[in-house]
Amino acid sequence: MEFAWTESQQRYREQVATFLEDNLPDDWFDTYCHGLGSPQQIDYARIFCPKLAKAGLLTPQWPAEYGGRDGEPWEQFILAEELWSWGEPRGPQYMNVNWIGPALMRFGTAEQKAEHLSRIATGEVIWCQGFSEPQAGTDLAALQTKAERIGDHYLINGMKIWTSYSYKADWCFLLARTGPERKAISCFLVPMNSKGVSVVPFPGLPEYGHLNEVFFEDVEVPLGNLVGEEGKGWEVITYALSYERVGLPRYHWGRKVLDTAVAQLQAEGRFDDPMVRAHAGRIVSKFEAARVLTYLVVDQRVKRTPDTTDPNVQRITAADACCELMNFLMEYLPDCLSGGERYLELFYRHNIPATIAAGTYELQLDLIAQRGLTLPRGR
Ligand SMILES: Cc1cc2nc3c(=O)[nH]c(=O)nc-3n(C[C@H](O)[C@H](O)[C@H](O)COP(=O)(O)OP(=O)(O)OC[C@H]3O[C@@H](n4cnc5c(N)ncnc54)[C@H](O)[C@@H]3O)c2cc1C
Repeated sequence: MEFAWTESQQRYREQVATFLEDNLPDDWFDTYCHGLGSPQQIDYARIFCPKLAKAGLLTPQWPAEYGGRDGEPWEQFILAEELWSWGEPRGPQYMNVNWIGPALMRFGTAEQKAEHLSRIATGEVIWCQGFSEPQAGTDLAALQTKAERIGDHYLINGMKIWTSYSYKADWCFLLARTGPERKAISCFLVPMNSKGVSVVPFPGLPEYGHLNEVFFEDVEVPLGNLVGEEGKGWEVITYALSYERVGLPRYHWGRKVLDTAVAQLQAEGRFDDPMVRAHAGRIVSKFEAARVLTYLVVDQRVKRTPDTTDPNVQRITAADACCELMNFLMEYLPDCLSGGERYLELFYRHNIPATIAAGTYELQLDLIAQRGLTLPRGR
């Protein structure tokens, strides 16, 4: 694949960069330092996203009928690269535009589209994703949260874990079991202020806001909040996750962090060491490989070619690069991880779960082995 940005794509990137420079407040970096899931950043996202939407930059690639402007899929990735390298001022709303909206466009009813897509496109709403449970992470089909159809509603009981942003969310995109068969799972749109929903944040190494348990106790959800057919939630989720995996341009953010670290080492006269230079060079090549793989996957989407395991390869390449950069920071700039250069510290903290969230590293390798290389299953 040959890759070069077109003039209009370059102009678009400049438009995004100018918007960010003009609109992010002077104290944005302080807000960002609280972390992506922090109350400060989520509250700020409610101010920032409507402005981004008004400028036509929140959902440019969405169809005009749903509040977008029929832009090309590349626009979403250029936007994401610029926003992630600024610390993602959309907060959790990146999920709304990346996969919740597209999943509703494909599987939602007319009423669901009318209710939710315009609110997402105007940047007014915070969603969380309620998939994982204590015994159902990688093996998501083992989930136990139950939705029973009773009269004009479903009755939901169970619990979710790791539900990022849920303590501040308006809605939850929830997966629940609607039958005894392993894959009898359905998707629901659940208002987080429903009677019987409670959220308990818990502490951990990642920044505040990512680690929460959500409990559902006799929560009544109208039948109209089912997404797609009952028992066919798997189809919805496979579609949604294929968007989630390549939606986070860690490579772009990582390059900026590496450049910051190298500048600091240069200023301290420590970048002449060939070992340090070789280490930095290896990381650059991994981030650039992750970048090109991401572009390859986007190109496949644009051309609607059949699914491949390239998104899985992209995900492990990006995760590898992040881990290697974290080792680099730990080895050469350990002071930055305890209150020194906060841009570097935040990258470190934010990437602790980089090999876990959105599908673990090991599982990606399994998928590449089985589907991409058609290797036999181990016993
Ligand atoms: C910061 C953070 C935010 C998250 N946000 C959300 C969220 O918003 N919503 C949500 O629903 N979930 C969220 N998650 C959950 C995340 O999706 C799960 O942690 C992930 O899917 C792994 O599940 P698990 O933690 O149960 O680990 P397990 O599935 O128990 O896996 C444990 C280990 O075993 C390995 N393993 C498991 N099965 C296999 C296999 N078949 N082959 C090889 N190795 C295997 C895994 O790779 C892993 O190393 C988040 C997680 C983190 C850390």
